[in-house]
Amino acid sequence: MTDRRSELEAALTAVRDRVDAAMRRAGRADDTTLVVVTKHFPASDIDLLADLGVTHVGENRAQEVADKIPAVTGRARLAVHFVGQLQTNKVGTVTGLVDVVQSVDRARLARALERAAARRGRAIDVTVQVSLDNDRARGGVDPEHARELADVVADCSGLRLCGVMAVAPLGEDARRAFARLKNLADAIREDHPDASWVSAGMSGDLESAIAEGATHLRVGSAILGSRPSQR
Ligand SMILES: *Cc1c(COP(=O)(O)O)cnc(C)c1O
Repeated sequence: MTDRRSELEAALTAVRDRVDAAMRRAGRADDTTLVVVTKHFPASDIDLLADLGVTHVGENRAQEVADKIPAVTGRARLAVHFVGQLQTNKVGTVTGLVDVVQSVDRARLARALERAAARRGRAIDVTVQVSLDNDRARGGVDPEHARELADVVADCSGLRLCGVMAVAPLGEDARRAFARLKNLADAIREDHPDASWVSAGMSGDLESAIAEGATHLRVGSAILGSRPSQR
């Protein structure tokens, strides 16, 4: 068996090199935040990643958050981002364990998070997930309703509106889709100057996302390997 730490280290270096090269090509001197999506992989991998300097990880299922995150020893040094579809009745499971919910796509979910934040006396960072195709099954609010939802989140006490998030649509050029997301992010930022995050870009399309101004990348398989469902 190859040593998992070395394996993760090499993959992480390769992804950071891709990010640096894309930032140079885009002429960007700012920074992007790398969120390593650890879904389907054990808490021990999260510990290794934290040890290798990773400070942001992502998970997409409430149950997995509940099972894994309390077992992560370096938790204090990590920001945990929830990036999956979240049912209102699972909000209590994840709040307290995650720092950011990137996938807020309806007012009802924002209100449920607001109540959970109040119960815990702890603020939650939120991005509005935008659907860049018309496939509601993949989550996300329609672009034409995104500003309205951003206003709702901004009005919720205990929620901090950080910006927008999206997954590139299947079967469309990712860069074109991310350009639409950036326009929407800019529009929302006119009303909410602190909402500066544009979370876009995964293992296969992080270069396109960087070219279109992404501030947060969510990278899973390029670092951890293919997930069991993909093997
Ligand atoms: C799994 C996942 C990712 C990471 O995808 P990779 O292709 O493995 O990099 C990013 N964002 C979301 C919302 C995900 O569910």
